[in-house]
Amino acid sequence: LLQLSVPLNFIGFVYREIRQGLTDIEEMFDLLEVEAEVVDAPDAKELHIGTGALCFRDVRFAYDPERPILKGISFDVPAGKTVAIVGPSGAGKSTLSRLLYRFYDIQSGSITIDGQDVRDVTQKSLRSVIGMVPQDTVLFNDTLAYNIHYGRPDATEADVMAAADAAQISGFIAKLPNGFQTMVGERGLKLSGGEKQRVAIARTILKAPPILILDEATSALDTHTEQEIQSALDVVSKNRTTLVIAHRLSTVIGADEIIVLKDGMIAERGTHASLIASSGLYASMWSRQREAIQAEERLREVREMD
Ligand code: ADP
Ligand code: MG
Repeated sequence: LLQLSVPLNFIGFVYREIRQGLTDIEEMFDLLEVEAEVVDAPDAKELHIGTGALCFRDVRFAYDPERPILKGISFDVPAGKTVAIVGPSGAGKSTLSRLLYRFYDIQSGSITIDGQDVRDVTQKSLRSVIGMVPQDTVLFNDTLAYNIHYGRPDATEADVMAAADAAQISGFIAKLPNGFQTMVGERGLKLSGGEKQRVAIARTILKAPPILILDEATSALDTHTEQEIQSALDVVSKNRTTLVIAHRLSTVIGADEIIVLKDGMIAERGTHASLIASSGLYASMWSRQREAIQAEERLREVREMD
């Protein structure tokens, strides 16, 4: 981790932040990738979370001023609803989630939660209401129990077990000689991408935040495991404001709205049915994925006959 090209004083900053009790492990690792640190406004207030309604208004953003990434994005995630962001890789999907978490500040427009601009509230209060299952989960060099418990330090052991169950990782853990006390991370047991993702999902299930961001949360899983986890995620996201970033379109069919992002702009938006009916980019992405899944199934059938 320390091999990253991050100035040492920045790592010191991150350590202090952790000691001061920030609640998200993801945050620490994402922070390590961020060069410029966003700071609280001098008069920053606590975010008052109500129903958890999100509003992106004409959001423009560039990591590098020469190269705009988001070119005027507007959409809402009404309280308790699920909005999916899909589109080609590099379109700016993960960037949207990083902006909601305020790892970066936007150049113009606004992002609000229950009417409060994310730039006007403390980062600590902002991040305490958001649960994020990122694309690449990095675990603490500590036990599995610790890594899950982190989602809600005051949870009971029974809550931790229940979360592991819901994330379909408890069976795997039960088979380990040291069970939940198994050390993981760089100096412990190496977990596969899918196992790490399930630990992150268990942590988020335990945290049960008012707002959820799932960034390709099931991408490292095989189709079968993905379907099982999807049902666990459906339970967590029920009645919670959820932003899902998805590569596999099969996971977003039920979303209240699907936004197709392309080159930093909204190319199409609607429900699964309306987007299929309009025969545009989404419809062609959908048919390509269907063909790939069918080819995979035929291949499996042929193998099973041998
Ligand atoms: P997606 O999630 O849709 O695949 P991202 O939001 O991760 O896309 O990235 C959008 C664009 O921004 C990509 O071209 C990517 O290379 C660029 N990008 C992402 N992160 C950074 C960064 N930290 N610095 C500079 N450019 C970045
Ligand atoms: Mg991404």
